[in-house]
Amino acid sequence: MSALNESPIPVPEAPRPDIDPAEGIAFIDGDYRPLREAKISVLDFGFTRSDCTFDTLKVWDGKYFCRDLHLDRFLTSCETLRLDLPVTRKELIEIQDECVRRSGLRRALVKPICTRGVAVPGSRDPRDATPNFFAYAQPYSDTIKKEVQDRGLNMIVASAPRISPDAVDPKIKNYNRLDFVAGLFEAFDRGGDNVLMPDEDGNITEGPGFNVFVVRDGEAVTPHRGMLEGITRTVTFKLCEELQIKTHVAPVPTADLKGADEVFITSTAGGIMPVTAIDGEPLNGGQPGPKTEQIRDLYWAKHDDPEWTTSIDY
Ligand code: PLP
Repeated sequence: MSALNESPIPVPEAPRPDIDPAEGIAFIDGDYRPLREAKISVLDFGFTRSDCTFDTLKVWDGKYFCRDLHLDRFLTSCETLRLDLPVTRKELIEIQDECVRRSGLRRALVKPICTRGVAVPGSRDPRDATPNFFAYAQPYSDTIKKEVQDRGLNMIVASAPRISPDAVDPKIKNYNRLDFVAGLFEAFDRGGDNVLMPDEDGNITEGPGFNVFVVRDGEAVTPHRGMLEGITRTVTFKLCEELQIKTHVAPVPTADLKGADEVFITSTAGGIMPVTAIDGEPLNGGQPGPKTEQIRDLYWAKHDDPEWTTSIDY
C-alpha cells in the first residue's frame, strides 16, 4: 500500500494563466499540470526499460466510450507486470476525470500510465523501485489522418516480424515498439500509409496502434495471437453480431490479405478504418468495402448510446 492509497488525492494547483488548458492536462507527482510541462525522470525504469503499461481511452462529446473495458485491461496489465499501482480504481477514475474537466475538452484521448519508477541509487532491481502513476487528457486525434481514412489506407506488410508474443506479451499494452517504428519507416519507403506486422510464421498480427480484420465471403476474420486484444476489436465482435456478420478468430496468413474482399483496421483513436490496398495492390477496386462502412456507421452511432458510454461531470 502506498501513501496515495491512504491519503486523499492532493489538492491541485491553480490553473496556469499563460497556458491554454485545452492543450491538455496531466496528473503527475500528485499535481495537475499543463500537459506540455509533464515530464518524467530519466531514471524511471518506464523510460530506461519500457517497464510500464498504459491505456488509451476516448472521450467523445463529453462521454467516455467503453470506459470500464479500458480500465479493466489497464488494471489487469499492472497486475500481470507486478506493478503495484499507487491509486485505487476509484481514485484513478477521479484523477482522469479531473484531467478532462480541467482541460475542458469534450473530445479527448485520456491515458492512465503506470511505470516501475526510480530504483534506490545503484540498484538495477525492479523490486527496489516504487511505481509511479500518471494520467493525462489531450485533444482527440485519430491514429490515421482523416483524409487517409476517407480514401482508405495502402497498407504495407513489414518484411521483419513483430516481437514474439512469447518474449513480450502484446496483450499488455506496452511501449516496446521498435519493431513498429522500423516497420513504419519501411512502409513509408515503399510508398505506403502504414504497416501490418507478420509473425515469424507469416501470419498477420497487428499494426502500430490498431488491430486488423479481413472480410471474406461476407465473414470477418481477425488474428488469434500475437496482438493486443483491442477494445475496438471486442466492440467489433459485438457490432458484427448486431449486423449479423459472422466473425472468426483465426490465423490470418499474409497471402489471405491480398485475396480479401475487404480489410479494415480498428483502434480507439479512429474506430473502424478502411484499408483499400495491400503493398500497393488495390482491394475492392480501391474503395472502402460495404461491410466496413456498415460496421463503421454502427460504431459511431454507439457513441451516443448510454449503454456504451459514461458521462463526465464537467
Ligand atoms: N494494437 C496496438 C499495438 C495498439 O497500441 C492499439 C491501441 O492503441 C490497438 C491494437 C487497438 O486497441 P484499442 O482498440 O483498445 O484502441
